[in-house]
Amino acid sequence: MLRSVFLAAAGSSRMERLISSAPVTRGIVKRFVAGDGVTDALRASRELADDGLAISLDYLGEDTTTAEQAIATKDQYLTLLGRLRDAGLTPAAEVSLKLSAIGQKIDDRMAYDHAHAVCAAAAEAGTTVTLDAEDHTTTDSTLEILAELRKDYPDTGAVLQAYLRRTEGDCRELATAGSRVRLCKGAYSEPESVAYQSTLDVDKAYVRCLNILMSGEGYPMIATHDPRLIAIAEDRARWFDRRSDQFEFQMLYGVRPEEQARLAGAGHTVRVYVPYGDQWYGYLMRRLAERPANVAFFGKALTSKK
Ligand SMILES: Cc1cc2nc3c(=O)[nH]c(=O)nc-3n(C[C@H](O)[C@H](O)[C@H](O)COP(=O)(O)OP(=O)(O)OC[C@H]3O[C@@H](n4cnc5c(N)ncnc54)[C@H](O)[C@@H]3O)c2cc1C
Repeated sequence: MLRSVFLAAAGSSRMERLISSAPVTRGIVKRFVAGDGVTDALRASRELADDGLAISLDYLGEDTTTAEQAIATKDQYLTLLGRLRDAGLTPAAEVSLKLSAIGQKIDDRMAYDHAHAVCAAAAEAGTTVTLDAEDHTTTDSTLEILAELRKDYPDTGAVLQAYLRRTEGDCRELATAGSRVRLCKGAYSEPESVAYQSTLDVDKAYVRCLNILMSGEGYPMIATHDPRLIAIAEDRARWFDRRSDQFEFQMLYGVRPEEQARLAGAGHTVRVYVPYGDQWYGYLMRRLAERPANVAFFGKALTSKK
């Protein structure tokens, strides 16, 4: 129930104005977002790298509606990749890219061209790009663009969402040598016709997808904070004899940092997804939708006088 309220709010510009202008919101944003600019992104990356963690940086923004905005976002990524290289933060840091932020809603070709430029800059900087997954209406287009990009940049990563009924099939297609696949539960509001609705069904689907990826030939990136799924993934890694450089765990910035440290301490590769930029509204709403405790934290901050 709360989940759908927050996911509906994510798409409302009226709610965006209301929540973005509330003074307390800044404090909450700070917990999940590294800051507004590239310098903040670099600072957070340096701290995580010093702690032995890998990083995937996301310049916040989605559903771009003008060609100028799409170019500006692409340029942000090019600047970011240059700065990461100059700071010696690659290959520890890679980037995550939303195709809707670089023109997918305007024209697939535009999104492909910009993504190609970002992949070229990443290769030049000695690192990789992972294409984020957005709502199900974009999945076909995103996977088609991924296949094109992989012809020139085979290490471009995909994200698959376990809640989509189609995803087991997509896992089979992508569990091939050299293929980097991030498996997450999925963060959007989707209809029953395309997505499992109950927590149990989503978790079971996640495990089926995990089995396909871990038994396949690609490089699985296990993106979850769920203790049960993390334990199952550790078990599958032992069962399929995967070394620490043959799969990785991924978690979001500000979420379960102790668990991130524990997994890294146990010898696993752990990558933290670090968002930055001032377009944080949609991202924050999806984080609030995921977890009642985050909502309580938000509600307490909103009603607090401090
Ligand atoms: C690296 C990364 C990249 C992602 N990329 C995408 C993407 O491209 N597209 C997309 O749709 N979604 C993406 N997501 C979001 C994802 O789909 C989920 O919405 C999100 O990860 C929440 O699901 P969960 O698996 O962590 O488990 P949840 O179902 O949210 O939580 C399960 C359990 O995990 C534990 N837990 C969760 N959060 C906390 C916390 N803050 N503190 C303590 N325990 C906690 C609790 O025990 C909880 O019951 C990404 C997630 C990650 C980690």
